Amino acid sequence: MSVQTDLPCRQAELADAVAHWAAEGGTRPALTFLTYSGRQRTAQTLSYADLDRSARAWAARLSTLTAPGDRVVLMLGQSLEYIEAFLGCLYAGRVAVPLYAPDARRSDERLVAVLADARPTAVITSADAAADVDELVAGTGIRVLLANRAEPPVSGFPAAFSPVRGDGTAYLQYTSGSTRTPAGVQVTARNLAVAMTQLRESLPMAEGPMVSWLPYFHDMGLVYGICAVLQGGGHCWSMSPMSFVQRPSRFLQALSDSGAALTIVPNFAVDLCVRRVPESERQGLDLSRLRAFGNGSEPIRASSMMEFSEAYASYGFDPLAHQPGYGLAEATLMVTAHRYGRPLSVARLSRGALAAGVAVAADPDAPAEQVSEVVSCGVPVDQSVRIVDPASLATVSDRSVGEVWVQGGNVCSGYAGRDELTAEIFGGRLRESPDDSAWLRTGDLGFLADGELFLVGRLKDLIIIAGKNHYPADVEATVSDAVAEIRPGGVVAMPTRGDGPEGLVVVAEIEARSLATLDHARTALAVRAAVAAVHAITPADIVLVRSGTIPRTTSGKLQRRACSARYEAGEFR
Ligand code: ATP
Ligand code: MG
Repeated sequence: MSVQTDLPCRQAELADAVAHWAAEGGTRPALTFLTYSGRQRTAQTLSYADLDRSARAWAARLSTLTAPGDRVVLMLGQSLEYIEAFLGCLYAGRVAVPLYAPDARRSDERLVAVLADARPTAVITSADAAADVDELVAGTGIRVLLANRAEPPVSGFPAAFSPVRGDGTAYLQYTSGSTRTPAGVQVTARNLAVAMTQLRESLPMAEGPMVSWLPYFHDMGLVYGICAVLQGGGHCWSMSPMSFVQRPSRFLQALSDSGAALTIVPNFAVDLCVRRVPESERQGLDLSRLRAFGNGSEPIRASSMMEFSEAYASYGFDPLAHQPGYGLAEATLMVTAHRYGRPLSVARLSRGALAAGVAVAADPDAPAEQVSEVVSCGVPVDQSVRIVDPASLATVSDRSVGEVWVQGGNVCSGYAGRDELTAEIFGGRLRESPDDSAWLRTGDLGFLADGELFLVGRLKDLIIIAGKNHYPADVEATVSDAVAEIRPGGVVAMPTRGDGPEGLVVVAEIEARSLATLDHARTALAVRAAVAAVHAITPADIVLVRSGTIPRTTSGKLQRRACSARYEAGEFR
């Protein structure tokens, strides 16, 4: 698949593209932001001309207060101002670092760590967060700039206007921090241009708006939710993650009202749309325009998508819209995507063979516990993917599990200020062609079958017992399916650490409504029985905790290693 663009080459870069669409048809809507108060919804829209004007105003401001190449951290809540400031950095040739506003109620290790790592000269924030930001940056000399939409924009092209282009770093994308302290991926203007174009090639961007509530500080929310759509002159409808979590029907209503053709969410949100949207809030929904319903960033479950299809069939939802995909910050965003408009491809595999690292179709008569269902994440989107044995560094055969390696114009050059880690992760050399250019080692485990990528887990999280591989997401799904009191997505399966015999520990969150009546022993027994029946292992320990106890990233991903550290420290007792 080769990528083409309807924009002249230079205008494929985001700042140029926005300026292009502003000049072309300025009043065309670019971004609509929805805010909620109960059932009351307010919509505010910026045209391409508006966006271009405020980006220029920011560029003018930044060029007097900072130097070219300086890093500028965005500590803003999800808002129109956020995107204006982000584009302003691009226009000005300053390196944006998309983060979020500090929460006054709790200290945030991630913000502190990222601030120290990114060494910015300025922070852009909002008036209501300014006091907390001042506290965070006290004594560092970092300048705090307020984003204020009411401020009159500077008119005309400031002389110093010089967008980041080509191999210049456009922004630093901090990884989610699922397995470590977040690292800042250097995304060049070219990386972003390639990634946006790849997305537009694999998505029905021309057929209608995008609706997204994904956080702007996360690669999926920024690159897919906003940038790719803006590159193509499309219309993004946006809301905050909190608006979605508080009332998932708001998202469905926005899809319906905007006539959205595309959206993307992590798998847990597909479940919320089924379980947390009462019948009364479904009335009148029309999802018939939705052509691509992306699912990515977390393990994908076929059952979640099937249940969604069933729940919303009578509201016009076309099951062929489901579009699983796979990506990571180090590749700007997307690596593979299912071709929307085709039925999902779900492999029914022998669980025993998969534990030995081979994908073999399950016997059609095999009992359910011997079958592992793995959803295809689709085909590489204008980039190369190899599956590699992480020990020998040799490419493995089709249907063998190994580490996913990636090469393409969207693969970034490395992490800011982390040379050793950059060499390790971005400098993969295949054993059979060591002189070939370097590959990105994703740390993810999967296999290729007839060109499609199937993911099974992360190398760092793998549980190995008696020489067999157990994939945490698979064990976690078994547990949450088996016990109704356990919160879906609220389970971590992890290996025992230390010198003792290798074993499995399960930490499971109990739904708030089940806490009072919970029969602890009976629930733990049900977990034990399910894990033993399906995976043929007896957990060394099962810990039942309150909902919200398992450590997660700011984008809601499970942090299995952090969970393991807390467990070892006895914090769950
Ligand atoms: P960190 O690298 O800091 O530990 P992270 O890897 O979660 O955090 P991101 O780059 O935001 O940070 O997320 C990319 C990762 O998300 C992938 O490497 C993969 O492990 C996981 N992921 C993405 N898409 C899928 C998918 N479809 N199925 C399973 N996992 C996925
Ligand atoms: Mg990662």
